[in-house]
Amino acid sequence: MDNRALRADRGKIEISFGRKQLLIDVVTSDRKRLSITVHPDLRITAKAPSEYELEVIRRRLEKRASWIARQLDFFERFQPLPPERKFVSGETHYYLGRQYRLRIQPSKTARVRLLGRFFEMELPNPNKKEKARALMLDWYSAHAKSLLSRRLSQYLPVFVKMKVAEPKIRFRRMKKRWGSCSENKVIIFNTELAKAPILCIDYVIVHELCHLLYPNHDRKFFRLLKRIMPDWEKRKERLEQVII
Ligand SMILES: [Zn+2]
Repeated sequence: MDNRALRADRGKIEISFGRKQLLIDVVTSDRKRLSITVHPDLRITAKAPSEYELEVIRRRLEKRASWIARQLDFFERFQPLPPERKFVSGETHYYLGRQYRLRIQPSKTARVRLLGRFFEMELPNPNKKEKARALMLDWYSAHAKSLLSRRLSQYLPVFVKMKVAEPKIRFRRMKKRWGSCSENKVIIFNTELAKAPILCIDYVIVHELCHLLYPNHDRKFFRLLKRIMPDWEKRKERLEQVII
């Protein structure tokens, strides 16, 4: 693409930032300043004054490269906030996006259950943090499995209609991701999802199911995601606030 082609109307400019190649759709128009937008589907667009030479636009975009890369990172981010739990009475724990207080009481048996606004835990030795932690993990894991399976059965038929082979579903506690979908169609859901609101859980389910058709976060992927879940961006934003 030469200057004339760009100045005529529009074009693409590719700049590199670290290991990232940023492909930017540039539109020129009768305007005073250059503006750049990074979209949630990872498209990058820029509007430039029509009198700008291609090289000027390129230089300006390069100056903003780190900002663009940061925006992309934000939209690519798909991981929970790191856990920091002490397992003591009074501590807040989450279930389906709601807060519950942990209350630990001594007892002969070890168990935990949800009662009103509390996680009621009984422990032979309330000071045994590791035991309290293990109990909570088991509780979340059991609830995540039944919850996710139930929600999954709502969305799976949509994908089966698109001639997608049924995936194998696994559950695992993960620190860095809410879910994953491998090439051999195994979807793993993070059992920590039980802490997130249902609308976020549904988003992760649909996101991973979309990977059955499109393994990468490319335009086709986002087009399908948007079609099935038009408000996925809001759900994703909410998911990023979830503390595990
Ligand atoms: Zn993904």
